[in-house]
Parts: sequence; structure tokens; C-alpha cells
Amino acid sequence: MIQFNIEQGIIEKEEQLAVDTTHVEAEATLHAHRKCGHTESCDCPKIPTDDNVGLMRKSNTVTYIAHKVTLIMWCKIGTAII
Ligand SMILES: [Zn+2]
Repeated sequence: MIQFNIEQGIIEKEEQLAVDTTHVEAEATLHAHRKCGHTESCDCPKIPTDDNVGLMRKSNTVTYIAHKVTLIMWCKIGTAII
């Protein structure tokens, strides 16, 4: 969509970029895996409930299970481009 808007002249490229990181809370339990549904022991692969999830400590008392996200934005229009 961003590429389309640039090509159409709806938004213009800027010389400066702003970069910031944040986190998105995950719908997962750390190191948990999906189960295959077999009731007996099996060799089915374990599938993470949520890929690339990690433990994010914001302080000594605040912890999230989350995905780390980096936003790259043009400064003037504030549009995230990546
Ligand atoms: Zn199985």
C-alpha cells in the first residue's frame, strides 16, 4: 500500500526516518507447544504456539510475553513504512 501511494504521488518520500521499538503482547505461553491431538505418545513435531515470542522485561515488576517490533517511519507524515 505504501509503495502504491508513493507511485501515485499520494505521499512523498522524505529524507529523514524515525526508528522506534515497541512490543506487541503475544497470545502465547513462553516455550509452549501445540499438541497434535494424539492421546498416545507420538513423533509428531512440536509447533510453537507463537513464533518469535519472547520475555520482555520493562522493569523489575513489569514483564510481558511479547513480540518485539521495530517501526520505521517518515518524520513528517508519521506513516510506518516497515
Ligand atoms: Zn501426534
